[in-house]
Amino acid sequence: MRTKRVTIHDEDRVFVLTGAGVSAESGLATFRGSDGLWEGERIEDVASPRGWQHDPERVWRFYSLRRKAAAEAEPNPAHNSLAKLESKLGNRFFLCTQNVDDLHERAGSRNLVHMHGELFQSCCERCERAPYVDTKLFESKAEHDFCNCGGRIRPNIVWFGEVPFHMERIFEELHRCTVMLVIGTSGVVQPAASFVHWANERYSTGGAPVRTYYIGPEHPANAAAFTKVFEGPAGEVLPHLFDVR
Ligand code: NAD
Repeated sequence: MRTKRVTIHDEDRVFVLTGAGVSAESGLATFRGSDGLWEGERIEDVASPRGWQHDPERVWRFYSLRRKAAAEAEPNPAHNSLAKLESKLGNRFFLCTQNVDDLHERAGSRNLVHMHGELFQSCCERCERAPYVDTKLFESKAEHDFCNCGGRIRPNIVWFGEVPFHMERIFEELHRCTVMLVIGTSGVVQPAASFVHWANERYSTGGAPVRTYYIGPEHPANAAAFTKVFEGPAGEVLPHLFDVR
């Protein structure tokens, strides 16, 4: 008989990885479409240290538009289902998102980390000043902020070529999970694309067995690594997926 649901037992610990697809039904664009653009921009122009050095105005214009779109978006049933699952599992639930929007938090998720940074935070490009909450929209260079050290203020986003945040915590949670849910990510951006392989390796080297599930409308590049792929939009699949025992 085909498994239609994911059963979560008392002893299970759930690790969730989400990508841009989980916010697609909230109206936020994913970026790995056939044209390789994110909202009409080439990724290397707006999401790389080189792009920032070359044209900070373009980068801030892009992230200002992303801030505006995210502020106007609402969590969808996929975000809500994950928050509901967390409310049942407590600290046996951990969410790692690649998304920079705040829709998981607004749906009620608490035990989560943003491995690629947060849209509504800024930091200094140069000094160790802690990232801070920033909802400003910048339309021209004249409006850009500078740090006391003289460095430019940039979005607190992990760009291509930079090291993701919270990796120690993520490894810790990957090491102790027994169920992994990966939702709405193309399976090509590293290191997140390897999490399912690391979980599977743990099994093959004699660790606790990990059941790994992918949820999304199309198979990701790493689909073969999953125990099962549930095909469909996350907002339609997730609300009926879990059987918590
Ligand atoms: P991606 O754009 O490469 O892939 C999106 C994936 O979502 C695709 O596999 C697609 O099939 C799937 N998808 C589309 N609609 C879906 C739906 N309704 N339900 C479930 N899945 C759906 O995204 P990615 O793999 O997450 O790329 C990683 C990078 O994209 C991250 O670094 C992230 O920071 C950045 N990003 C973030 C946002 C955001 O914060 N909302 C938006 C775009 C890109």
